[in-house]
Amino acid sequence: MRLKLHHQILIAMLVGAGVGLPLNILAESGTIDAYWPRTVAAYGKGVGDVFLRLLSMIVAPLILASLVSGITSTGSLSGLARLGGRTLTYYLTTSMLAIITGIVAFNIIQPGTHGNIELIEASREAVTMDVVQTGAGLAETLWNQVFNLIPANPFHALSDPSNKSILGVIFFAVMFGVFITIVGGEVGELLTKVFNGVFEVMMKMTMFIIKFAPAGVLGFMLYASAGKGLGVFVALGWYVLTVAIALTFHAVITLPLICIVLGRRSPLKFFQSMSPALLTAFSTASSNGTLPLTITCVEKRAGISNRISSFVLPLGATVNMDGTALYEVVAVLFIAQVTPDVDLTVGQQVIVAITALFASIGAAGIPHAGTVMMVVVLGAVGLPLDGIGLILAVDRVLDMYRTSINVWSDSTACAVMARFESPGGTDPPDAPTESP
Ligand code: ASP
Repeated sequence: MRLKLHHQILIAMLVGAGVGLPLNILAESGTIDAYWPRTVAAYGKGVGDVFLRLLSMIVAPLILASLVSGITSTGSLSGLARLGGRTLTYYLTTSMLAIITGIVAFNIIQPGTHGNIELIEASREAVTMDVVQTGAGLAETLWNQVFNLIPANPFHALSDPSNKSILGVIFFAVMFGVFITIVGGEVGELLTKVFNGVFEVMMKMTMFIIKFAPAGVLGFMLYASAGKGLGVFVALGWYVLTVAIALTFHAVITLPLICIVLGRRSPLKFFQSMSPALLTAFSTASSNGTLPLTITCVEKRAGISNRISSFVLPLGATVNMDGTALYEVVAVLFIAQVTPDVDLTVGQQVIVAITALFASIGAAGIPHAGTVMMVVVLGAVGLPLDGIGLILAVDRVLDMYRTSINVWSDSTACAVMARFESPGGTDPPDAPTESP
């Protein structure tokens, strides 16, 4: 009997940690040479990177084909406007709920008061990422977000190797899809057929690439556990704990309640359907990278129509990041708490919350994007940017978790929209499944 994909992924994660951690511990204790964990980590990263690269290859054409095909199948323009309004309302509401959860968890646990600053200082890593937003104020940041929605050249946005111009692709694809609907007639029919065809091929390619997910996950797990050791998982314990508890609350209470009340679906069954995507999001820390799998799970395993998934998911992977918003808030409040002589006023906490919302909208669906955007939130309340160095050591593991919450929220959005958009109430929750 062939193991289901999500079981294969889970096994790959356990094997990766089971091999990587002992190697790291043995090298730390001097039993074996440090060469071994380093080599295993390097090979692991190599394998993981190949998988991410394959996913990254299909993201732009998949989004374009998926959005155009989805929008043209919406049929009428009024139907499209309704779906867009509801989707954006959902994105903003759930992100705000996530932020509030983060603030409450922070105030109860007060992670910075337990933290051993010296331990934190000792675990500093250099901030090597490209901090693009340094110095930008809130208004400027907002303006940049809106302005950058419009691609200077859609072909350039499509071919940007970093996939950072995905918002531009979405903007162009939405307009193109809308205008195909407006032009209509023979031309509309022809183009709809062409994009449906391209989309079908892209989905098949995706299903093929996804078969390699367990190898990619094994590679990344080896990289994290052999290369960084237990320290990755235990340093900055209280801070990690706070973010994790708040994320868990959002994932198992808030979103499932929304799934039941607004989506009229069993969250447990829906979670099972989405599990390959959620586990892949966890191990790759990339919503964009996971997108092909998210679309496949929503459509093939949860039985939600392409019209909904192709609109809600690509947009959600880029702008709807509940996990990232929550993390931004807790991280910045934590940095403030461990910075001597800083006490944020309620007004400043509100600024942190609002800025975190926009930072999460602006963050790309790629690893560590949220950390880069933290510069904006820190700057908004005048905190030193080098606070990022404090939390960088544990960023990867939190990035993994918050990314799966981001994807879980996008998926729940599909469940909600399916209920409101389908004539009969919901798309069949247990439509015949085709295991990807
Ligand atoms: N890695 C996250 C994502 O892809 C973004 C972030 O860094 O928070 O959804």
